[in-house]
Amino acid sequence: MRIPFIAGNWKMNLSVDEAVDFLKAMKDKLPDPSVTETAIAASPLFLESMVKNRDELPLIIAAENCFYEDEGAYTGETSPKALAEMGVTHVIIGHSERRKYFKETDDVINKKVHAAFRNGLTPIICCDETMSRRESPNKISWVVSQVTNALKGIDNEQAKTLIIAYEPSWAIGSGKTASSDEAEEGCYLIRQTVADLYSDEIANQVRVLYGGSVNDNNADEILSQNDIDGVLAGGASLKADSFLRLANFLQK
Ligand code: PGA
Repeated sequence: MRIPFIAGNWKMNLSVDEAVDFLKAMKDKLPDPSVTETAIAASPLFLESMVKNRDELPLIIAAENCFYEDEGAYTGETSPKALAEMGVTHVIIGHSERRKYFKETDDVINKKVHAAFRNGLTPIICCDETMSRRESPNKISWVVSQVTNALKGIDNEQAKTLIIAYEPSWAIGSGKTASSDEAEEGCYLIRQTVADLYSDEIANQVRVLYGGSVNDNNADEILSQNDIDGVLAGGASLKADSFLRLANFLQK
């Protein structure tokens, strides 16, 4: 059985104080992690303070990105080794905003996935899809190729622990959510790609998330789909009450 995974991606929002207030508002309100795992991905500026202020909260603290080398002369980059030392356990890799604004290629993303595993971090790999690609005749191969390229050289034991998010960029921050059928189609395709690359057994363990304008009105329908094990929410994760509604979707 795959444990649902509800993640927030704060992007470049909030302040350190607001992040700490958010954690205080989570006290005694998050689901048991054996029922639903919850995570917040935040700016590297906040992570140390969040890890320290998390106390006993069952909340995973994740980074939004990391570099593919552990250390060295890479001005301005975030070391995956330092993230792990700080107590961060998960890292988003290949978000569509990284691909679009920072020109991250599949090759860079693959190196980052390796760097995450090398440092004991669980990668949350994002798989993008633009509207023009969705409408093009070979839309399917675009999703497949991103997953395939991200996972080059990743072994079976690592693959089992993966979290992969289907995040069509036309739905991100646009208020235009994919329908539950569209979201399921993308997530199913990701799982099938993992099955083709590894095995059905591994594909059944990988958690596949949907992201793109998720909120507490549309989350239930999205989360009721077979191949959708959770969500990656941007805007809806910025306020404690809306994140808690997503986090506790099974309790409704
Ligand atoms: P959104 O962002 O929920 O604000 O659309 C999702 C994401 O970018 O991960």
